[in-house]
Amino acid sequence: YYFPNSFKYLILGGGVAAGYAAREFVKQGVKAGEVGIISEESVAPYERPALSKGYLLPKNAARLPQFHVCVGSGGERLDRSWYEKNGIELILNTKIVKAALESKTLTSEDGTNFKFGTLIIATGSKGLKLRDFGVKGDEAKNVLCLRDIKDADQIVEAMKAKKNGKAVVVGGGYNGLEVGAALRLNNLSVTMVYPDPWCLPRLFTKEIAEFYERYYTSKGIRIMKGTSVIDLESDSNKEVKRVKLKNGRELEADIVIVGIGARPATGLFQGQLELNKGGIKTDGLFKTSMKDVYAIGDIACFPMKMYNEMRRVEHVDHARKSAMKAVEGIMGKGKGKVVEEYDYLPYFYSRVFDLSWQFYGDNVGETTVMFGDRNPAAKKPKFGCYWIKDGKLMGIFLEGGSAEENKAIKELAWLQPKVGDGKELKDNGVSFAFEL
Ligand code: FAD
Repeated sequence: YYFPNSFKYLILGGGVAAGYAAREFVKQGVKAGEVGIISEESVAPYERPALSKGYLLPKNAARLPQFHVCVGSGGERLDRSWYEKNGIELILNTKIVKAALESKTLTSEDGTNFKFGTLIIATGSKGLKLRDFGVKGDEAKNVLCLRDIKDADQIVEAMKAKKNGKAVVVGGGYNGLEVGAALRLNNLSVTMVYPDPWCLPRLFTKEIAEFYERYYTSKGIRIMKGTSVIDLESDSNKEVKRVKLKNGRELEADIVIVGIGARPATGLFQGQLELNKGGIKTDGLFKTSMKDVYAIGDIACFPMKMYNEMRRVEHVDHARKSAMKAVEGIMGKGKGKVVEEYDYLPYFYSRVFDLSWQFYGDNVGETTVMFGDRNPAAKKPKFGCYWIKDGKLMGIFLEGGSAEENKAIKELAWLQPKVGDGKELKDNGVSFAFEL
């Protein structure tokens, strides 16, 4: 494996999962020259969530090398010199356009072939575009999205060029909510547009969403929900000036940011690997349907033991943990070690303005129980929600929790206690988490 472009272990993708996999390989005693990482990006793996949080702040903005992995989970910061020191080859600015898995070869845009013994696929997700929904005009210069460093730099530049201007944020998911808040902090006038009846409908209940929407409104953000963008009208300078909505309204715009969801980047593997739920199907150690090929992070559809179901998780915590588990399995195999299968508790979070929430478990069930103070004008709003299914506690959401409280709700979600109709939860709020 010591020939150029030939690796015992090759990681495709240079995002969060790739970085954590590299650290685990070193921890497990891999030899110099055995691991390569191929990435389309121009920098070593970094903590992607920083892009929509610290990176866009008007003051003390985060910049690389500050947030290379693994600082997001309190670990060592792996900058380029770490990869050099450990003999891991970082092949940057390299897009793979063909994957011939049977012959263990990847081919880049410029025709270079890369050989592998074992492949770990960590290509993450690609953002959807308005054109995917038949909307014309999204190729304009001032229509931006946020997926990688390049995108983040473009948004920073646009905020400077359109100082105090008008921004239209399309999409009311994590991405839209975080970027919308960041634009507002940079003093742009922000309108958010989304088709759903409330923001982040995949996770939030109506009551939870109502708090954030009222909070955003109190910060001067205009929310237009239940409608979608149907056309983007550009001027002769190829910049969008007006955004047309399905409800007949038109919005003036200096910048348009599109955050309408993402899809797993599995295109290279269609017809070669078994897919499931839009991702690559794996077992509990992230092995795919083909020998010596693994998939981790956003693209993996893996058995979630807790809920006895195949799932994909597009969140950073899973990207980190799946990477470590896969490498542990790969390296353990050679040493005859028995490695336990992945057992994952879903964990999602977000931070905007002075707010911060965490969620653990599964947001399913016939009953939800709200508790706490949901007044957006409160000095420190603090509230939460429990999800109950068949009398069992399934999921917990907490805004404004302390580190101790967040730890307690995490443990509670693992335990899934019987809670009947949830009256006790209503009466005790987050303190219920300390009672077990
Ligand atoms: P990614 O980190 O997306 O990395 C994929 C890598 O593969 C990229 O480097 C890409 O360039 C490369 N790649 C893809 N195809 C090719 C190819 N053909 N050739 C070469 N390279 C290729 N999650 C949370 O839990 N909390 C948050 O607060 C949060 N905030 C986020 C904010 C933003 C702006 C974004 C975009 C995501 C956020 N996420 C958050 C989601 C989280 O970042 C992802 O779940 C995580 O990054 C997934 O890791 P990954 O390694 O699977 O994919």
